[in-house]
Amino acid sequence: STVAPRSLEVRGLTQRFGVFTALDDVSLTVAPGQVVGLLGPNGAGKTTLIDCVSGNNRLSGGTISWDGRDVTRWAPYRRARAGLSRSFQSLELFDDLTVRENLLAAADRRDRLAYLTDLVHPGRSRMPATVVAAVEELGLAPLLDTRAEDLSYGQRRLVAIARAVASSPSVLLLDEPAAGLDETESAELGRLVRRLADEWGMGILLIEHDVALVLENADRVVVLDFGRVIAEGAPAEVRTDPAVRRAYLGE
Ligand code: ADP
Repeated sequence: STVAPRSLEVRGLTQRFGVFTALDDVSLTVAPGQVVGLLGPNGAGKTTLIDCVSGNNRLSGGTISWDGRDVTRWAPYRRARAGLSRSFQSLELFDDLTVRENLLAAADRRDRLAYLTDLVHPGRSRMPATVVAAVEELGLAPLLDTRAEDLSYGQRRLVAIARAVASSPSVLLLDEPAAGLDETESAELGRLVRRLADEWGMGILLIEHDVALVLENADRVVVLDFGRVIAEGAPAEVRTDPAVRRAYLGE
C-alpha cells in the first residue's frame, strides 16, 4: 500500500496481554497538519495504542508505519529520533533545572545550538519557533528561569508538553495532556495544538478525557471502546453518533 509522506499509519493493530485483548484490529492515520483525537472510556485501550506507536509495546499484530517506512520493529529511541514523539509525565522533568534548561535538554540536536546561544544571550528570539509558540500559548514565559521543583502541578504538566514540542517532532503523541489543568490552561493547550498543526504542519494524536477539548480542536476523531474502533469521523459526526453517545457520553 502507498503511504503518504510524513504520515503515521496504524494498520490492524492488535495488542493482547495474556488472554486479554486490549486492542483489536485498530487502524488510524495521522497526516501532517492534522489533529486526530482519540476518545474512549477508561480501559478502552487509548494508552496502549500510544505505547504501541511510541514503541513501548511489542505488538501482537498489525503494522505501524511512519513516513512510508515500516517502524513496527523499531526501538522507541529510534522512533523518537525519526520524529515520533510523545508527551512525558511531569515526573520526568529535571527538578533541579529551570524550565528553560528542561526545554534545552529536550531540544532537537538541530535546535540545541540556538538554545545554547539563547542561554548566553537571554531572549526567546533564538528558540525554535514551535517552542516559542508553546512558551507563549502556555503562558510559560514568566517561568523560564524557575526551577522545575518550584512549579505547581499544572505548570509542570504544561512544561512537559512544551518539552515534547521542543524535540521538534513531526508527529506529537499527547497522552491526556489536559489532566490536572484548569479551564484556562486547557483552552491554552487547545490553541497550541491547533497552532502546531496549522502553522508547522505537525501531526498530532491527542488522547484526552476532556471530550470538549477534543471535539473543539481535532480534525478527525476516533472513538475506542473495549479495544475496538466504534466510530470515527469529523467531530460533528462523532458527536451525534448513537454508538458513541451510548458507550461514552452516557446516553
Ligand atoms: P485507556 O488508556 O483507554 O484507559 P489502557 O490502554 O490503559 O486504556 O488499558 C486498556 C486495557 O488493557 C485495560 O483493561 C488495562 O487493564 C489493560 N492493560 C493495559 N496494559 C496492560 C498490561 N501491561 N498488562 C495487562 N493488561 C493491561
